[in-house]
Amino acid sequence: MLDAKIPAGKLDEKWTKYKGTVKLVNPANKRKLEIIVVGTGLAGSSAAASLGEMGYKVKAFCFQDSPRRAHSIAAQGGINAAKNYQNDGDSVYRLFYDTIKGGDYRAREGNVHRLAEVSTSIIDQCVAQGVPFAREYGGLLSNRSFGGTQVQRTFYAAGQTGQQLLIGAYQALERQVALGTVEMHARHEMVELVIIDGKARGIIARNLVTGELERHFAHAVLLCTGGYGNVFYLSTNAMGSNVTAAWKAHKKGAYFANPCFTQIHPTCIPVSGDHQSKLTLMSESLRNDGRIWVPAKQGDNRPANEIPEEERDYYLERRYPAFGNLVPRDVASRAAKERCDAGFGVGSSKQAVYLDYAAAIQRYGKAEVSKKNLGNVSAEVITNLGKDVVKEKYGNLFAMYEKITGENPYEVPMRIYPAVHYTMGGLWVDYELKTTIDGLYALGEANFSEHGANRLGASALMQGLADGYFVIPYTLGNYLADDIRTTSIPTDHPAFVEAEQKAADRINTLMSIKGKQTVESFHKRLGKIIWDKCGMARSAEGLKQAIEEVRALKAEFWSDVRIPGEINAMNPELDKAGRVADFIELGELMCIDALDRNESCGGHFREEYQTPDGEALRDDEGYMYVAAWEHQENNWNLHKEALNYEVVKPSQRSYK
Ligand SMILES: Cc1cc2nc3c(=O)[nH]c(=O)nc-3n(C[C@H](O)[C@H](O)[C@H](O)COP(=O)(O)OP(=O)(O)OC[C@H]3O[C@@H](n4cnc5c(N)ncnc54)[C@H](O)[C@@H]3O)c2cc1C
Repeated sequence: MLDAKIPAGKLDEKWTKYKGTVKLVNPANKRKLEIIVVGTGLAGSSAAASLGEMGYKVKAFCFQDSPRRAHSIAAQGGINAAKNYQNDGDSVYRLFYDTIKGGDYRAREGNVHRLAEVSTSIIDQCVAQGVPFAREYGGLLSNRSFGGTQVQRTFYAAGQTGQQLLIGAYQALERQVALGTVEMHARHEMVELVIIDGKARGIIARNLVTGELERHFAHAVLLCTGGYGNVFYLSTNAMGSNVTAAWKAHKKGAYFANPCFTQIHPTCIPVSGDHQSKLTLMSESLRNDGRIWVPAKQGDNRPANEIPEEERDYYLERRYPAFGNLVPRDVASRAAKERCDAGFGVGSSKQAVYLDYAAAIQRYGKAEVSKKNLGNVSAEVITNLGKDVVKEKYGNLFAMYEKITGENPYEVPMRIYPAVHYTMGGLWVDYELKTTIDGLYALGEANFSEHGANRLGASALMQGLADGYFVIPYTLGNYLADDIRTTSIPTDHPAFVEAEQKAADRINTLMSIKGKQTVESFHKRLGKIIWDKCGMARSAEGLKQAIEEVRALKAEFWSDVRIPGEINAMNPELDKAGRVADFIELGELMCIDALDRNESCGGHFREEYQTPDGEALRDDEGYMYVAAWEHQENNWNLHKEALNYEVVKPSQRSYK
């Protein structure tokens, strides 16, 4: 059994006690200690900025041309915090409880409580940096709701929360760059981890402009490299998001936890054909005011606005009256799939449901009339006033929808369908965010996170920033305090030479295949296998087939892939080939993990295990553990971390 090293004591005192007793590194020693931070999204930027500010010597890496282009910039809807500004009953405990329940009782109590505790400091930190969160008329920060909660605790900056938060973290990072505590290496991709005497001591990075391989030493390495949703090919993730850094660490001894726990987001623009390489999210914030429905009659082809109210099925409100349109993502996604599979889908593909703003426009319009004391006004005036309010709240999302689909969502309901969005699985870490390799840490979406089998909306940004601003500054010191006598290890050490050679050999092998098929075509085929057989619904039979298919695809890839261009030059096809090769291996592990977990929980829905009304059926006796996989030559070994619930009592999740 794996030990997460959760501090003893009462749940709400663990983190405080840990912080008060943890080992420290004095300022003079900090200046001698070097730290590599791979990734500059919200987790990486906040970590690098904080550690630089504390006095450590930091080197940060990202593969984009600027830290500001990390995938985090795409986050739309918001970030949670238990501030209880709305006086609607929120508290640290409630955020903790909602997260544990939302994750279907597959997350650690100790970590989740710490996350809820620091959530409030994140908002203060970001406000101090100048992040322009939305405010009420009186100046107070505004909140909205996200799925799986009955309170309003989501802070937001229109539909650009990730962008604004990242600019805040980026500014903090750039300040340290200017002060000389952080050295920034953009357009560099980590392609190998260097381990010396069992400790992570550096990385091999490829300069993506020149193709050159570089060696970098550090006393500790932090992977903040994001999630692996792009294993599915079609996802809402940024195109460059990949698993390579985590995978290299995994192959060198870092366990990979719960790889099959992926999140399918219910509100995305549906796939429109075979030509697409990217899907677009319509933020969950839209479920605050939008109502989701399908026609009550199968195969009803009438335009949405011609279907009368009594012939509509608001199926989430019908099935889950307590949470309605704000049930968690896994529940909402499955419910949409169920309606479409049963023949009630809309649009030309019939793989879509409606997200309708007509009622919200009327509600807001009437409130405006009353607020402005306008008396008796025409229906048109009410509608226009309502549209203005909706525009202010969600305008950029509506504009994006119109641009992509050509339809005006103020006039006709949006069509939406679930799509791959986030990965709860990732590198296994203990309470201190340390992987199973000494000196190697994982933060943000790259670790297996605090979200169990299903993440609640607006909790990823919260976790990434908690890890970077508030957790790692304490936990890393606890490790480095014992390493102050280690001086810089020269990069001609045999471990660096060997790691660089390994990376070079792999690149040479890839380039020498000179086959007939493009990297993209392999990625697309991989995505289809994983989506069809390890996506929203999984079965033992399908997963066994998928494992065979992925293995065959791997063999075909390594004998027939064609990569144009040169090694020692800018070559995005080569960059992508390395990433797809890693995705293929990860795809196999995801299916193995999904096959091994003979239960349904959160986003992991095994068709064999469901309640009579189609909800996920957990098996707490058999599977209340984190599955952490150790890589072995051509195979994986399963380790388990038992999940002990001391405060919350696991029960069948109900949102009814
Ligand atoms: C469309 C969309 C909207 C979302 N909206 C929300 C929201 O409203 N609220 C919320 O809480 N969550 C949201 N999420 C989830 C959230 O955006 C992510 O979970 C979060 O931003 C991840 O941050 P991160 O710092 O862990 O990783 P990322 O932002 O993905 O950053 C990864 C970094 O790692 C670098 N990197 C990766 N591999 C390497 C390598 N091998 N070498 C060097 N560098 C590397 C990249 O260059 C990048 O800098 C959304 C997700 C999507 C897809």
